[in-house]
Amino acid sequence: MLTARAIRQSFIDFFLGKEHTFVPSSPIVPHGDETLLFANAGMNQFKDIFLGLRVPDCKRAVNSQKCLRVSGKHNDLEEVGKDTYHHTFFEMLGNWSFNDYFKAESISWAWELLTKVWGINADQLWATVFAGDEKDGLPRDDEAAGLWTKLTPIPAERVVAFGKKENFWEMGETGPCGPCSEIHIDLGPDRCDMQGVPGHTCRVNGDCARFIELWNLVFIQYNRQPSGNLVPLSARYIDTGAGLERVVRVLQNKQSNYDTDLFMPIIERTAEMSGHKYTSQLGNKTDNAFRVIADHSRTLVFAITDGATPSNDGRGYVIRRILRRAARFGRELDLHEPFLYRLVPIVADCLGEAFPEIRERAEYVATVIQSEEAGFGRTLDRGLEIFNSAAARAAGTDKKVISGDDAFQLYDTFGFPPDLTQLMAREKGLTVDMQQFEELMKEQRERARAAQKTDALLAGLADSDLPATEDLHKYKTDRYDATILGWIDADGFKKQGALPTGVEIGLVLDKTCFYAEAGGQVGDIGVISSRVERGASSENQHAERTTHNASRFVVEATTKVGNSVIHRGKLAEGSLSVGSAVTGVVSPDRNATRKNHTATHLLQWALQEVLGKSVAQQGSYVGPDYLRFDFTYPKVPTSEELGKVEQLVRERIASDLPVAWTVLPREEAEKLGAMALFGEKYGSEVRVVCVGASDGDHIDEAFSREFCGGTHVDRLGVIGGFKILKEESVSAGVRRITALTGQALTAHLERAGNVVEQLAALLQVPADKLPERISQLLEDNKKLAKQLRTAAKTGGPDTMTEARTLLDAGQRIGEAAVVVGRLSTTSVDRAREAIDMLKKKAKSAAIVLAYEEEGKVMLLAGVTDDLISKVKAGDIVKQIAPIVGGGGGGRPQMAQAGGKDPAKIDEALKEAINLITQKLT
Ligand code: ATP
Ligand code: MG
Repeated sequence: MLTARAIRQSFIDFFLGKEHTFVPSSPIVPHGDETLLFANAGMNQFKDIFLGLRVPDCKRAVNSQKCLRVSGKHNDLEEVGKDTYHHTFFEMLGNWSFNDYFKAESISWAWELLTKVWGINADQLWATVFAGDEKDGLPRDDEAAGLWTKLTPIPAERVVAFGKKENFWEMGETGPCGPCSEIHIDLGPDRCDMQGVPGHTCRVNGDCARFIELWNLVFIQYNRQPSGNLVPLSARYIDTGAGLERVVRVLQNKQSNYDTDLFMPIIERTAEMSGHKYTSQLGNKTDNAFRVIADHSRTLVFAITDGATPSNDGRGYVIRRILRRAARFGRELDLHEPFLYRLVPIVADCLGEAFPEIRERAEYVATVIQSEEAGFGRTLDRGLEIFNSAAARAAGTDKKVISGDDAFQLYDTFGFPPDLTQLMAREKGLTVDMQQFEELMKEQRERARAAQKTDALLAGLADSDLPATEDLHKYKTDRYDATILGWIDADGFKKQGALPTGVEIGLVLDKTCFYAEAGGQVGDIGVISSRVERGASSENQHAERTTHNASRFVVEATTKVGNSVIHRGKLAEGSLSVGSAVTGVVSPDRNATRKNHTATHLLQWALQEVLGKSVAQQGSYVGPDYLRFDFTYPKVPTSEELGKVEQLVRERIASDLPVAWTVLPREEAEKLGAMALFGEKYGSEVRVVCVGASDGDHIDEAFSREFCGGTHVDRLGVIGGFKILKEESVSAGVRRITALTGQALTAHLERAGNVVEQLAALLQVPADKLPERISQLLEDNKKLAKQLRTAAKTGGPDTMTEARTLLDAGQRIGEAAVVVGRLSTTSVDRAREAIDMLKKKAKSAAIVLAYEEEGKVMLLAGVTDDLISKVKAGDIVKQIAPIVGGGGGGRPQMAQAGGKDPAKIDEALKEAINLITQKLT
């Protein structure tokens, strides 16, 4: 039997043999495409090529793309588990022609691979073509139909035409698209799952499981514009997609995708954990749960590996929903503790060969999943109870509708995504009042919005209202001449007139060297002041003369709206107007920020060197005061590891290597392995900061390459030092490092040095003896505190006085005094002293003293030498200690014992009197 791995490879090899170039899958979380939450087809990464925005590196490509179909135009979530061939995550095998070959080759090669290489029975295969669409003004694809019968032995009656829904492929609402031709397989009449459904006949695109689509050949010729219009593309492309899981199932001769080696190891592990058996039946609740869990675990692994994390909006929410759905299905298998994370290594095993990234990040992914599962697990069982009673209520009514209120409570309090509630409702033949649910959601969102402070200055401002600012100067200089284009106040953008004084506004210039907050780096502060323009027109000079020479606008923050840089602050002195010539000077603070920014790149590099590939940036703060770097890592780094990181960064700083940057097409930068921030949107051109490269033409010299728009030092030496202040956890699998460089570090060390000096003077020891001296002081302090506590407790009657009272009250047997009694709480030392004192005072005595301390009993006995031939202190203690639940002993003259039962003290003392009396008389 061919393994899935071999099948994937045979697809790739087949097209390599036809002069295609292998292109790795793009991440499942697309960078730089706002129209798409997750990659949903092989063509996503080539979209710019189809649109003519990018020149391809090759004319023909072959790949296996990681796809997720859980949102937007392509959403197969509901099918998962219910059928045997729709997954949320799947691999799409594809061959591509970028204005090279077209329909004929793609059709004959697909046929060749399926029937000759893979040996699929040609009699089972069907082809479909586009029937045309009147509304879009598109003709029927007779060309494709003709090619099928001409180039392959397929009979004409097995080439059938379908409309737009089936045979016109579109990625989303807009974008490249075109007619397609699909290849379906007839799996035989007994695979039909709709037998007996009135009106059902088995046919291609006929809804039953007998016919399954294997491969889609898309002939991309149009671009769907936002208006809905189709515009022909200047070139023609081939985009094909074959679902690996479906191909594997056919070639491995299985009845379900889940029975292949792509899923069985996951299912087997789930069976092992749950004790339930998988029987591969459709319509069976337990089997369905197995399939959903297997499917969802793959989805979670791939999405989280590529940078999605469970959260409450966007991609994160999709992932959270999938995880919760899987956890809920786990309950069907009696899995009540987190279990999904334990499937991560299995998924990594099954697919890590083709996608090594899931192996590299497996531990991190497991940490994230486990913590999310644990969080949801705590409310899931309670939520299921609430759901069951809501469902019971709904079932008792005619409408069979679960109220939006209940669904909202399940969502809001128990974290049940509404589609999970709907799904569970459907399983019970109920529906959910989604309209009411949506209303409640809307109310909640409005409440949240009202609670959120809005930025008054920028509220309601559209990007289009503002002129663009040319701001590349920020990379070169801290001082730049410019002209005021306008300013923003609470009413919007002003294009003329004089700036108001003393109120916060946003100043917009034609050019600037101020850095606007982005990529974690803070926006610049500084001053923009008036300038007399030499060589300006007489009109301008006149304007300048009326302007005070020392007019100053103080910039307190710099932000960007669209392409416009907003200098936020106040006109502090003089007057400035639209059209004034000004000079902007950035505060020297930025030098400190630069050092921190480059150090952040060094830190990320060093972390990867020391901790490995699972380190990926999750966020950062780069300001003049310090730097903070959040990164994924499933464990707690040890102090040795952190020490190693610090050392590596310091070595690089000391090496004083240069820092350069360059601008590259995004794909090229990605190919170079430049590190991008997960989830960050990048344009088609990206700036890459290269640490260690002498200039932008020698970026191969760099040891660190990162996508970054920030400002950096020119040479590492100026960073001047590096120290990690703190390492902590931010959330599951995410760590945070706070560190200092440059001046801030020097100031920090100076402060720390001063403290040490002061301490050394105070304690009168050399600085290096401080730890020793201080631990001694702490030790002493502990002892004193204990003594103090005892003293406070014995603050009542004094032990000696008590002892004397006992002596006075005690009986005498002949010359010998029998002193037996209780002391208020005291210390062992004080009690011993009391015994010594009594011995001296009485000359001849047998003494037993007891006291209680913190629920425990202390017994002490003393006998003067003249009596020890008759009664021994050790014997007394040995005999009475068991009464208070203890034991002990000692010398004939002095002995002691502990006990656990203060309630029995009196009994023990009574026994002591008996014993002594007996021995002495
Ligand atoms: P179907 O009609 O079966 O849902 P589709 O028309 O949505 O398929 P395409 O968008 O053309 O499929 O994707 C190309 C190929 O990817 C399909 O021929 C199929 O083999 C595979 N495929 C599509 N969706 C899934 C899915 N959810 N799970 C597994 N494979 C899929
Ligand atoms: Mg589909």
